[in-house]
Amino acid sequence: MAAGLVPVDLNNLFIASKAALSWVSEAEAAGFPRTICAWVKGIYAALPHHPQIQAVIVACQGDCSYTQALGEILAAAGRKIIHFKFPYPKNRDQLQREITTLMHRLDADAAGVARIQVRLKPLREDLRRLDRLTWKTGQVKSRENFEFLIASSDFEGDVEAYARKLTNFLRVAQQRPSSSPQVRLGLIGIPPIFSDLWDYLDELGAAVVFNEMPRQFSMPYPGLDLVDQYLAYTYPYDIFGRLADLQEAVATRHLDGLIHYTQSFCFRQMFDQTLRENLRVPILTIEGDRPTPLDPRTRMRLEAFVDVLRP
Ligand code: SF4
Repeated sequence: MAAGLVPVDLNNLFIASKAALSWVSEAEAAGFPRTICAWVKGIYAALPHHPQIQAVIVACQGDCSYTQALGEILAAAGRKIIHFKFPYPKNRDQLQREITTLMHRLDADAAGVARIQVRLKPLREDLRRLDRLTWKTGQVKSRENFEFLIASSDFEGDVEAYARKLTNFLRVAQQRPSSSPQVRLGLIGIPPIFSDLWDYLDELGAAVVFNEMPRQFSMPYPGLDLVDQYLAYTYPYDIFGRLADLQEAVATRHLDGLIHYTQSFCFRQMFDQTLRENLRVPILTIEGDRPTPLDPRTRMRLEAFVDVLRP
């Protein structure tokens, strides 16, 4: 943004498209194996449908085990690729260097970056307010929380329009009466590919009052400089930062249980065991593959889980 460019999150373009399912098939027709995560295929297939995208920033470390290969495939197809590495292990100096390199590559300067951070400050405060209205007063529904927070990774490609939409939404939400769900849940892991998870949980009388990754995308830690903001962001580093964040959420938000969403063929599935061993709260692990509604088996398992937690 400081370079006068418009960042768009390819994950969001993929999942928000009505054609998401067919894009996965398009990637498979282009040669991607069935045993590769559908998000990767969706990102690959989303690009030709958005010819205005001029370059792709590839988080080739700390994001996804497939991203390096995806970046190479895109480069081979003639795409302009810009690499970014989240340091592993977490390291402030290295992250500072990565951010500076990215600034130079995009022709942004420190003053411009600082101006954008100031511009985004009230917006991030509004996102924290939205999150509080979800878990403290129940005035914001699980799906609304998810949709606003997940979109904060790129502000839907138009920060001013997104900020207005959020302000208007908060004005309405604050007028709603408070409500408390029968069962309070946290949704952890990567964002689910299912289209109707929140609505189904709503039907069961359960509310997701903590959306782990979407909340991280909103950068919920105020008062930090840019490097510290991206150091506090738990997604790209080790599991221990995530565990601390999750333990705090379980305690502060009085969660009755957690749903751990895992994606077929994703390396992050391996963390299920560590999460179970370290979080003292009931956990249901579900798995999704393609962008579809919930399958009957997963619906049944969710229903049984909520029944067990219901007071
Ligand atoms: S779900 Fe896992 S494998 Fe798929 S894009 Fe995300 S991190 Fe990568």
